[in-house]
Amino acid sequence: MADIIKLLPDHVANQIAAGEVVQRPASVVKELLENAIDAGASSIKLIVKDGGKILIQVVDDGVGMSGTDARLSFERHATSKIQSAEDLFNLHTKGFRGEALASIAAIAHVDLTTRPENEEVGTALKIEGSKVISQEVAVSPKGTSFAVKNLFFNIPARRNFLKSDTVELRHITDEFQRVALAHPAIAFHYYNNGSELFGLPKTNYKQRIVHVFGSRTNEKLVPVQEDTQVVRISGFIGKPEFAKKSRGEQFFFVNDRFIKSPYLHHAVLSAFEGLIKQGTYPAYFIYLEVDPASIDINIHPTKTEVKFNDEHTLYAILRSTVKHSLGQFNVAPVLDFEQDQNLETPYEYRNKEGVLPKVTVDQAFNPFSHTEQKPTFRPNFQRQDIEGWENLYVGLESKVGKGADFSSVSFESETITGNLFPKYGEQAESTTTTFQLKRKYIVTTIKSGMVVIDQSRAHQRVLYEKFLKNITVKGAISQQLLFPLTLSLSKTDMAIFDEIKESLGTIGFAFGVTDTEHLEIKGLPLLIPGSEAEIVLDELIAAHNEHPDGNNFSQTDRLSKTLCKCLSVKTGDILDVNSQLALVNDLFACKEPKLSPFNKPIYITITGEDIDNKFK
Ligand code: ADP
Ligand code: MG
Repeated sequence: MADIIKLLPDHVANQIAAGEVVQRPASVVKELLENAIDAGASSIKLIVKDGGKILIQVVDDGVGMSGTDARLSFERHATSKIQSAEDLFNLHTKGFRGEALASIAAIAHVDLTTRPENEEVGTALKIEGSKVISQEVAVSPKGTSFAVKNLFFNIPARRNFLKSDTVELRHITDEFQRVALAHPAIAFHYYNNGSELFGLPKTNYKQRIVHVFGSRTNEKLVPVQEDTQVVRISGFIGKPEFAKKSRGEQFFFVNDRFIKSPYLHHAVLSAFEGLIKQGTYPAYFIYLEVDPASIDINIHPTKTEVKFNDEHTLYAILRSTVKHSLGQFNVAPVLDFEQDQNLETPYEYRNKEGVLPKVTVDQAFNPFSHTEQKPTFRPNFQRQDIEGWENLYVGLESKVGKGADFSSVSFESETITGNLFPKYGEQAESTTTTFQLKRKYIVTTIKSGMVVIDQSRAHQRVLYEKFLKNITVKGAISQQLLFPLTLSLSKTDMAIFDEIKESLGTIGFAFGVTDTEHLEIKGLPLLIPGSEAEIVLDELIAAHNEHPDGNNFSQTDRLSKTLCKCLSVKTGDILDVNSQLALVNDLFACKEPKLSPFNKPIYITITGEDIDNKFK
């Protein structure tokens, strides 16, 4: 057989290797920022155009490079940071592979100007797709400027693969924040299309966090601190009452390098156990300092994982440190097992402030009545039809007492499925029509037997179809709030909010003045009570953050899904008979009553025959 193996030409090999390091504009940002830090910069500027697709420029005031070094820096495996493999175990720099610049130069147009402090003139170098176009002597300030233009200009497939400018910009911002949070002693400025997104002066760790995430962050944080032989821990954790649905504000740094560690994340979460609502996440900014020899960062260049020698010990220390600080700063309530659970303020209400009178009042909430009954903060099904809707359940009872026809009660389900519940009007008087099983299912009878309905999925379906309809029809009904709510969001969340603001408007949200950190809500969709507004928005932002792309339909669909998940009754919620009935009616008025919006079955039927068979 003829020989078939060939060596790839250099430029192809370079492009392939580049793919390892540079996946998107944010990867370039990370590499350039890290190089600037390794160069000892005290001030770093990041300039971005069109989500980094057109331009990514990093300007530093670090040590700069000689003309020869400038040229050499673009060679693969050219690095000033390690000399032997042993050095890998004593790393004090971000970079060490000598690959980043070679990779970037292979797939972009790069302009470099640099000057070391002790030289009078600097160097300007132009490279396009690994080819040096020009190298000249140039006047330049001390330090280095890398401008990376037209990323992936020579690999159209990769370029097409990039997401929208907004999404790419978000990735860049993530990288920027990680680096900025790890280096508060360095000043950072970050511009996108000419406007400054972040201007961060030199400061301490806490102030850096506050500058990045907004002034309200200050009051939300408590310090963590521990010094052991294995690790030195410092940083801040968010107070439990500020735990959020989104996982955005969680940062571990090991020796000033941002890392991801599901294992350590678990350690922190477990320290918060019992203090935060399920499905919410506390913020944390935790800085670990360990002996460089005890970790291995020699993994994939774009990965953020680190291998620790003694992960178990680290886990235990971290967990107890976080616990300790929660206790010390009196954030963790004193445990009192005698306390009546029902008198506890629900978590949703802890972080409410201002105590302005609320429009939504849960009048059914009486801590001294039934020991079991928990206040229900879910939206009530029939609100639209009832005057004084806050009185929903109470109102209903009296209507029922007067023998009200239920068809007038179930809102928006104009047509009641007559076939399935033929005698449902008459049966309404008897409480046997529906009952709740295990606070999870609603059981009701039909001609042929009985139906067991998953209450949460059923309500999700009902709400989902309502929201979908509202969004598509436009002009959704909005309830004006008597007292507008002001929420404060981090800059990142605010940016995400901007992306969904318009769609939110179409479903009935009305916003007042917003600035970089605050958001005024003047109106809410009819189905969302004011008390839930913050949680709902938080959830919407988190959901959009996870799947930012998509066409209009999928956006609408996701909005509706998020809302219905947030607002539906849950397993464990007690529903009175009227609500059970209303839910059943609403469900069977839906277009697709069988499946939840998340494609789970909503109900099962058990026929008389099935039951007969059981008795055989
Ligand atoms: P690494 O950072 O792994 O060493 P890079 O390809 O990122 O590899 O950079 C190659 C070399 O170029 C670095 O080792 C450093 O000597 C030099 N260099 C890169 N960026 C800068 C900078 N901003 N200032 C000074 N020197 C730099
Ligand atoms: Mg580097």
